[in-house]
Amino acid sequence: NSARRPLIAANWKMNGLKADGTALAGAVAARAKAVGTALAGDILICPPATLIDAVAEALADSPVALGGQDCSAEPSGAFTGDIAAAMLRDLGCSTVIVGHSERRAGHHETDAAVRAKATAALAEGLTAIVCVGETATERDEGRALDVVGGQVLGSVPDGATAATLVVAYEPVWAIGTGRVPTLDDIAAMHRHIRELLAGKVVGGVDVRILYGGSVKPSNAREILALDDVDGALVGGASLKADEFWAIVEAAP
Ligand code: PEP
Repeated sequence: NSARRPLIAANWKMNGLKADGTALAGAVAARAKAVGTALAGDILICPPATLIDAVAEALADSPVALGGQDCSAEPSGAFTGDIAAAMLRDLGCSTVIVGHSERRAGHHETDAAVRAKATAALAEGLTAIVCVGETATERDEGRALDVVGGQVLGSVPDGATAATLVVAYEPVWAIGTGRVPTLDDIAAMHRHIRELLAGKVVGGVDVRILYGGSVKPSNAREILALDDVDGALVGGASLKADEFWAIVEAAP
């Protein structure tokens, strides 16, 4: 589907100091520049907030986009430690991840909280990557489609469009574990999410749906070839330029 250009997104999580972060971003930028307009898809790097400014400089004049890993639902004010969507925009971010399972679990973010953050991102002109995914128990109990469906309906703002929204399906049990669902299970979940989005937001069938969870060079090609998979959100493998680039090149 040409409306759904592949997106390969790097989530560095809480990794990187200035020297290694800028070196990693610079290495990705150099490869992207060398390929130029022949790139099959979009590339995004989401560094920790402390590195956004330095990474922006390393990515300058490259086609690699910049994003945050989280934003506040509030526009500004007395929210110590939080980062507003406008602040990300100000540093050159086009995009922000919201509702990552590490924030849902570790920071008690509910679907309503994630939706509020996504709404704040959209209001600032950022694209929101809304993350959803079931736990191992939920999958074992046969509830994965229902749980993830509920997260999609509860976390995606009504005002989102295919241009401003990306959904990332990341089974919690696949993140950082080396375990991935079967290709059939990924395909079924992405189809389910697409059907829900089609009924929920304008142009919903064209919203890009990324798979995330232990994507690496050795499994990227078969996952990215699935019909309703429009890219990948990559954690661990995004911290090595060679591995991340191999995943970029695996996009159809
Ligand atoms: C993630 O947490 O977004 C992720 C996909 O991590 P990993 O690739 O390390 O499983």
